[in-house]
Amino acid sequence: MSAHFDVIVVGAGPGGSLTAMQLARRGRQVAMLDKTQFPRFAVGESSTPIASRTLEQISVDFGIDELAPLTRWGKWRESQTQATGGLKRGFTYYDHRPGRNRDATGLWPADPAARLLVAASASDADGDSHWVRAEVDQYLVDICRRQGVEVRFGCTVEQIQAESPWRITVRQAGDWSASETLSCDTLVDASGRAGVILRQLGYRDAVDALRTQTSARFTHIVNTAVAEAADADKLPYRAHEAAVHHLLHDGWVWELRMSDGRTSIGRVWTGSGPTDAAANGTRPSPHQLRDNLDVASSPSLSAWLSSARLAESPGDWLQSARVQHRWCGGRTMSRSFLALPTSLATIDPLHSTGLAHAITGSQRIVDLIVREAGGDVARYAEQVESEIELLDRAVSLAYRVWARCDLFFDACMLYFALAIGDEEDRISKGFQPERATWRATELQVQQAQRAAEAIIMDALKADRPIDRPAFRRQLAEICQVPLACRDDNLYAYTFG
Ligand SMILES: Cc1cc2nc3c(=O)[nH]c(=O)nc-3n(C[C@H](O)[C@H](O)[C@H](O)COP(=O)(O)OP(=O)(O)OC[C@H]3O[C@@H](n4cnc5c(N)ncnc54)[C@H](O)[C@@H]3O)c2cc1C
Repeated sequence: MSAHFDVIVVGAGPGGSLTAMQLARRGRQVAMLDKTQFPRFAVGESSTPIASRTLEQISVDFGIDELAPLTRWGKWRESQTQATGGLKRGFTYYDHRPGRNRDATGLWPADPAARLLVAASASDADGDSHWVRAEVDQYLVDICRRQGVEVRFGCTVEQIQAESPWRITVRQAGDWSASETLSCDTLVDASGRAGVILRQLGYRDAVDALRTQTSARFTHIVNTAVAEAADADKLPYRAHEAAVHHLLHDGWVWELRMSDGRTSIGRVWTGSGPTDAAANGTRPSPHQLRDNLDVASSPSLSAWLSSARLAESPGDWLQSARVQHRWCGGRTMSRSFLALPTSLATIDPLHSTGLAHAITGSQRIVDLIVREAGGDVARYAEQVESEIELLDRAVSLAYRVWARCDLFFDACMLYFALAIGDEEDRISKGFQPERATWRATELQVQQAQRAAEAIIMDALKADRPIDRPAFRRQLAEICQVPLACRDDNLYAYTFG
């Protein structure tokens, strides 16, 4: 049996589903294949304004109303009364390293220099969301099906034969004896780090070319205490309704609270951390949360976790000895073969950039495929390279200055400038295929990023405070919102 499609999308994560549904809305015959069965656990749960605003554009441009609830927390809660997810008002950072005084709760830093809160939305209703990926990915797949996409789960790609048309041999779980050949005019790799098509088309593992190097262990837990800071009334939003980053000497812990009492928790180590040792059999029992999170150095975090326990799902810890991935150097992308940015690279959970990258990638890939005159694929490929470079620079800078909390916060501010600059442009001009995400191909942005980075590194090397006026001038080259300007490190939402 052989079936022909205009487009086959391999991978049914958010990037794959969004690509497939937009193409179907433009009248293309689309199949989407995923090797797993949905719903399934996944990380990449913390959404951001770039992701939300892009989803809003896709929802309007393609008339897909069901995407609107994913763009604002208030809409999600109104329309999805059974669903969970979590409110994300911004980015919260607490420095838990030794030597920091605690506030009256004993948990959170008393010193403003050890805490940073950056609001990313004006109100709870307009807030971003933490996505329970099992739920949201299923939600997106359901939209695909309603738009006529043929969705196949438990479907493994075995072989790809050269194009015109592409012939893909797949095997269906549960029926391993029978393989099937599908054909299509365009293949889209949306398989994330697996790079299923990329590998078949000659791409090689180039992860060592990235500057960022971290490892991670993560799961869902329940019963985490909600402990407000002693000065909660002064904060721009409730500090825990955010992507919370607990900073430790050798990495950080993320905390993403969901509305049903679950918390997504993950430990990121600079370098390979104990994930290597774990591979050798010294992994703690799954129920020893504090050992899995490696937070013994922090009495405050240990206390905060004292009554927490593992959630039923996924019910164990997952880990990655190298969070980053990077595929390079294979067949040049064309209108008949395209890859999402998130198939080409993962940088890091720090700054929550993955969903935005997948979603903005899907928007551009669809434009390349459906545009009558033919889109500029070479430009898209160049954009993705520049985006990966921009992110790798921004994230690795934050890790390079890790030992200096003040400079780490400045490195975060530099990333926020890049993100807000994108948001400003995206909102005022709408979808522009020539705009790279984070405006990564624009010379002014590249120069300001490098100059701001140099100012931070100079302060590190000379062991002195940052040249703040010079730093602010560089951030002002990137975005309009004033950043890195408050001694209390509390940033309310002032954009828009
Ligand atoms: C530890 C960690 C934490 C992260 N946290 C965040 C965060 O807070 N915020 C954020 O924005 N991003 C985060 N990210 C990044 C985010 O997870 C990804 O960028 C995002 O999931 C990319 O979406 P995608 O649709 O491109 O790929 P994925 O979500 O990875 O989906 C790929 C799909 O392809 C399928 N697949 C794989 N192999 C095959 C095969 N052989 N055949 C068929 N199908 C296949 C998989 O089953 C999967 O369903 C994080 C990443 C990591 C590693």
